[in-house]
Amino acid sequence: MARAVDVPALVEAARAGSPRAVARLISLVENAHPALRQVMAALAPHTGNAHVLGITGSPGVGKSTCTNALVSAFRERGKRVGILAVDPSSPFSGGALLGDRIRMSDHVLDPDVYIRSMASRGHLGGLSWSTPQALRVLDGAGCDVILLETVGVGQSEVEVAGLADTTLVLLAPGMGDGVQAAKAGILEIGDVFVVNKADREGADVTVRDIRHMISLGERRAAGDWRPPVVKTVAAKGEGVDEVMEAIDKHVAWMQEHGVLRERRVKRAGDEIEAIAIRALRSRMGDLRQGKGVDDLAEQVVDGRTDPYAAADTVVDALT
Ligand code: GDP
Repeated sequence: MARAVDVPALVEAARAGSPRAVARLISLVENAHPALRQVMAALAPHTGNAHVLGITGSPGVGKSTCTNALVSAFRERGKRVGILAVDPSSPFSGGALLGDRIRMSDHVLDPDVYIRSMASRGHLGGLSWSTPQALRVLDGAGCDVILLETVGVGQSEVEVAGLADTTLVLLAPGMGDGVQAAKAGILEIGDVFVVNKADREGADVTVRDIRHMISLGERRAAGDWRPPVVKTVAAKGEGVDEVMEAIDKHVAWMQEHGVLRERRVKRAGDEIEAIAIRALRSRMGDLRQGKGVDDLAEQVVDGRTDPYAAADTVVDALT
């Protein structure tokens, strides 16, 4: 039995800035708690303010370090910041490794910074179901900026990064990241490319490679966004101002061209689809449990009907 939840009180506390209430709401998302329907309804009027900034890149390129530096920069601007770390390859929740590392950051005691990591592999409905809802909680709780950090450059990372308004792709010199990026389709999702560890040899080569690859894939019209490539030494805070400037420019460009709205509508569509599919799956499970499919299956085995006709009957029963 799921524990009873006082949703109005919890939402009110989260909106008033209680980190515990925010954490509790995100746990409800992680557990696909039945109260979520009510939570999302209560949050809906308060959402739409947060700028979601995706940060992705291979392990070790400096995502945590960079996130830390960006949080400082946003805090200097007086912004309330949420950090959602998602590791699509890890089965661990709550204390997933990403979050643990961020938890050790400079901002752990700042009441205007929410830090949370989320599981992932094997999650009910998957990350495409849970991540947007966790973002919604942080947004509704009054975050101005949400840093959505994902590991690696695989397909699920691309998917999660697709949940952002602005996506930062981090690379480092000499990691063969350029080729990896091209393979993983990360070039398409990057709005700003950051070559971190610019204090190391080969940074300029990496910058050039990325610029070259971006231009190869380019079919841009005049006025289209051209992803900038920025060098940083995140460990020393160098280049962070330039990254912030690139982010600001991207936001301004999106607003000017209606792209921000477009991206958000697309995302909300994906979110609706993920919730609807999960609901259908759950009903399908009930149907099979109740032997509602067995009779049809017998008929298919006997050749009295075909699987398509049987599936039509099931679809009708589900909807
Ligand atoms: P993540 O796995 O992508 O989150 O990477 P981390 O932020 O944990 O950084 C990995 C390692 O690289 C750490 O030891 C950092 O101290 C180091 N690092 C981060 N930024 C820089 C940088 O700009 N230059 C150098 N030389 N090292 C860095």
